[in-house]
Formats: sequence, structure tokens, C-alpha cells
Amino acid sequence: MKICFITIFPGMMSGPLTSGMLDIAAKKGAADYTVVNLRDFAVDKHGSVDDYPYGGGPGMVMMAPPVVEAVESVRTADEAGEVPVILMSPAGRRFDQSIAIELARHEKIVFVCGRYKGVDERVEELVITDTVSIGDYILSGGELPALVVADAIVRHLPGVIGDERSRDTDSFSEEREFMLDAAYFTRPTEYRGLKVPEILQSGNHAKIDEWRRESALERTKRLRPDLLDDERKGPRQS
Ligand code: SAH
Repeated sequence: MKICFITIFPGMMSGPLTSGMLDIAAKKGAADYTVVNLRDFAVDKHGSVDDYPYGGGPGMVMMAPPVVEAVESVRTADEAGEVPVILMSPAGRRFDQSIAIELARHEKIVFVCGRYKGVDERVEELVITDTVSIGDYILSGGELPALVVADAIVRHLPGVIGDERSRDTDSFSEEREFMLDAAYFTRPTEYRGLKVPEILQSGNHAKIDEWRRESALERTKRLRPDLLDDERKGPRQS
């Protein structure tokens, strides 16, 4: 899968893209990252990509021409309509596991990382096919949101996660009925008077599975009761 990021801060992307699962995905050949410096598409020799908003008021706005041309540099006219061009935006659909799985089906995706007050509205009409938010709060730019979405996506590319059973029992998985995961313990068996549940040390896998299902349900009821009647749960089909 080709994943392209359009940003004015390419340096922000290099650490995350060369660490952990994002790095593993690239090294295993499942993902291939392209980071486009928006300033390469600046409208003048000073590297301008933003300007004052029409109508006045505070803040700057990212200009349409550099963004549209940067998108067109990584997404050919033939690919339009096929390759998602995702604008990271607080106004987008709220990101979740089902969107990650849906996006992981594509061969190529493009993220547009906004800055300042956002991107000239016409960019959406011209090249954007989807807008995604990572939650109801404001970040200073779309770089971290795009990396969040990319990390969640690459976990679902075939062969990236060594033990897919681990991924498939995480929170929001089908196996967990789209609820939270179970509680986990590791050595030592007793720490400051707190013991690891006996059953987990029994070696009886059927009983352990049952304990984990109950633990997952108990944690969901206690920590995220809203998930128990979440209509949106389950994989999206489109
Ligand atoms: N004026 C805008 C906020 C701009 S924040 C508004 O009120 O909606 C600057 C950029 O950061 C945005 O263009 C977007 O790309 C990114 N951004 C900020 N918060 C985000 C969020 N919750 N999810 C996704 N992207 C976000």
C-alpha cells in the first residue's frame, strides 16, 4: 500500500515512519511512504503556501493551488475516484477501527495535513474524497492525525503483525465483539500483595479464553458502557 502525506513539516513524519509498526510495515514491503513537502508547490520563490483569509479576521489559510498540485503530483488523473484523498480535519467523520479496516483495503491513499485556520474550502471540491477527524479537539496540524490513522491502517495490512491472533483479540476487534480487550498480567505472579488470577496460570486454554471474554465484558461495562449499545460497531462495508 502506498501512503502519501502532504505537509509543510516533512521532518515531523520521519521519526514515526521509521519506528515501531509503521517501520515494520515498510520493511516488510507492505507499506511504502511518500512525504511530499507542500513548499515544493509554493506559489512564489519565498515558499508561500498560505495567505490571509478573505473577509479578514485572525489566522492564515492554506492556499488551494499548492495543495491541489501536490495532490496531483502523487495521484494521477486516472487514479481520481479510486485513490482516497483524505483531508485531516476536525469536521471529518470520527476515526475508529472500522474506518481503519476500510482504508486498509486500498492500494494507495493520500493524506492532506492542514495547518493554520485550515485549507481553502475549494480544495475539498477539487481533490478531497474523504475528511477524517481523530476526535473532538483541535491540534495545530494534520500531521499527527494522519500518522495516527496510518498506524491504525498498517496493522491491518496482511503480514505486518507477526502474530495476527494478538491483533485480532485487541479492543474493537470482531473477536472481542467490538468491545474492550481483557485485562493482562505478566511476571511476577505476586507484586506488592497483588496476585495474578489463578486461572491464567492453570494452562487450561478453554477456561482462560472464557476468563478473558468475561474480563473484556467486565472492563467494557465499567470503563466504556457506551460501547455496549454502539450502533456503529462492526466493520464498515463501503
Ligand atoms: N479552523 C479549524 C482548525 C484548524 S487546525 C477548525 O476550527 O476546524 C489546523 C489543522 O490541523 C486542520 O486543518 C487539520 O488538518 C488539523 N487538525 C486539527 N485538529 C484535528 C483533528 N481533531 N482531527 C484531524 N485533524 C485535525
